[in-house]
Amino acid sequence: MKLITFTIQIFLLLISLSSSWASILPAKARATLEAGNRRFAEGKAIAHGWQKGIVTKTGALGQTPSVAVLTCSDSRTPVELIFDMGVGDLFVCRNAGGFDTPEVNATFEYGVAALGVHTILVLGHTKCGAVTATLEGTPVPGNISILTKALQPGIAKIHEEHKDLSQESKLNHAVEALTRYQMVEVIKNSALLQKAQADNKLQIMGAIYDVDTGLVRFLD
Ligand SMILES: [Zn+2]
Repeated sequence: MKLITFTIQIFLLLISLSSSWASILPAKARATLEAGNRRFAEGKAIAHGWQKGIVTKTGALGQTPSVAVLTCSDSRTPVELIFDMGVGDLFVCRNAGGFDTPEVNATFEYGVAALGVHTILVLGHTKCGAVTATLEGTPVPGNISILTKALQPGIAKIHEEHKDLSQESKLNHAVEALTRYQMVEVIKNSALLQKAQADNKLQIMGAIYDVDTGLVRFLD
């Protein structure tokens, strides 16, 4: 029994020292996410193997995620999976299209002020249905227009700037434009986040996830 307890303690120590739970340094945030995405895309993901131990640890000690993510609800963009992260690693807000709202903004403020989040990643993705609907401008039923209205300002100039491109190319430009737009919006809509950024306690990143390849491309 003592040996089993000792083994569990060593296991918990090892996972606490791993680079992906509760200890991502700001300067290593992008490299850590890129490395996790490479493991995912190459079929070498490791995170799922140690979740039970992490659940025990985070349940007892609480959460201190370093990275928050704003992304789409699209089922092909499962955030933890595509970055090979697990329980306690990412503080995630999702809605169709991945856009800032007062609730999203307040959630990120909480992450930064109370949990120690130092990086916000806005993650767009290819073949986004919400962006496609907004780009096409066709009428949508029910409350779905709330989404397209919210996304519209971020892609307002796409038709004019890329009028000669195919619909697919336009969509790719729209996804990137929207991601960059939301990177600005998230900060613009929060005095707390602006101050954190000015104090070098918060960085914002953008990236696009390719649903065909599983690869994430960070925006410079
Ligand atoms: Zn989407």
